Amino acid sequence: MNVCTTIAELRQIRWRDPLASWGLVPTMGYLHQGHLALVHRACQENQRVGVSIFVNPTQFNNQSDLASYPRKVEQDLEMLAEAGVELVWTPTADIVYPPGFQTYVNVEQATQPLEGAARPGHFRGVTTVVAKLFNVFQPTRAYFGQKDAQQVVVIQRMVRDLNFNLEIVVCPTVREADGLAMSSRNARLSSAARQQAVCLFQALQVANTLIEQGEQDAALVRRQMANVIATYPLARIDYISVAHADTLAEVEQIERPLLISMAVYVDNVRLIDNIVVGHR
Ligand code: AMP
Repeated sequence: MNVCTTIAELRQIRWRDPLASWGLVPTMGYLHQGHLALVHRACQENQRVGVSIFVNPTQFNNQSDLASYPRKVEQDLEMLAEAGVELVWTPTADIVYPPGFQTYVNVEQATQPLEGAARPGHFRGVTTVVAKLFNVFQPTRAYFGQKDAQQVVVIQRMVRDLNFNLEIVVCPTVREADGLAMSSRNARLSSAARQQAVCLFQALQVANTLIEQGEQDAALVRRQMANVIATYPLARIDYISVAHADTLAEVEQIERPLLISMAVYVDNVRLIDNIVVGHR
């Protein structure tokens, strides 16, 4: 496995065999089974796989969140070598954002609600770094998790709007045994908070059951989800959303396809989760 920092090294390895197909898995490190599911899928579908590990400062709207983001690069590299990855890029912030950097990519509408409203500037950082990753790696396919549902919508929009010549592959959310979506941020949960973090998945399941039973009133679904969260004393709702899966606009009447998503602070660790009801 090649581990490189500079863009020149990366390009040299990338273009050794120009005809090979390449899968790219962008990550912020502190890897878990959710990331590895993307890597395994990329290994199945491409001749070579590249992974980036970069805690991207421009997508953090909160400096203490950036400072406390968990990191363990050595262990990440062991996991990626074992998975059969060809190339890992671990750039410094100076390489990605050299002095004088002033060019950003902004998807205007899909970034407005949900995470975009709760975390101003977040998606501008995401789309800018992902556009740079696409330019640097020139992958055949790039792999993203459904765990970050709005990120998928925003990146698909960017790829269409800017004519990036690659395929976006979306992989299902990987969960712990109790349903908690795997996340690098879970490492910051105390043991009491970890037990209560299951509230997100429980609220999503309640919503899914109500809709399967024919509930038509989206406001009622949101209220029932909030009721589930309220039974957990360490949990505080940031937002609960029942929206159209493509436009991300909140709905009044249940209509498919739906994205049911939420952000909840559990003991001050901000967790997100979602389900899609009905096919896109
Ligand atoms: P991150 O390191 O959190 O930026 O995540 C890197 C990629 O892994 C993103 O495309 C995420 O959506 C994806 N990912 C993170 N957690 C999970 C999970 N539990 N299941 C599936 N994909 C995930």
